[in-house]
Amino acid sequence: MLEDINVKELRCEECGSPNVVARIMGKYYCFKCGSKIVKEHLRKQISIMKEKGLIFDEYEANLENAESN
Ligand SMILES: [Zn+2]
Repeated sequence: MLEDINVKELRCEECGSPNVVARIMGKYYCFKCGSKIVKEHLRKQISIMKEKGLIFDEYEANLENAESN
């Protein structure tokens, strides 16, 4: 009875995979594409925040130090 409403073939917006696990900004994604989108989104947010001076480069500097050691 509920099938017509619920099983409205959810597909990943990116690759078309039926293994949808996340809904991001109104669109559905599989785990692989979803995590990629989230990472890109975060990176974008972080660079915007940096431009606005809301966050500092300390975190990145610490990472670089850790890598060079
Ligand atoms: Zn996908």
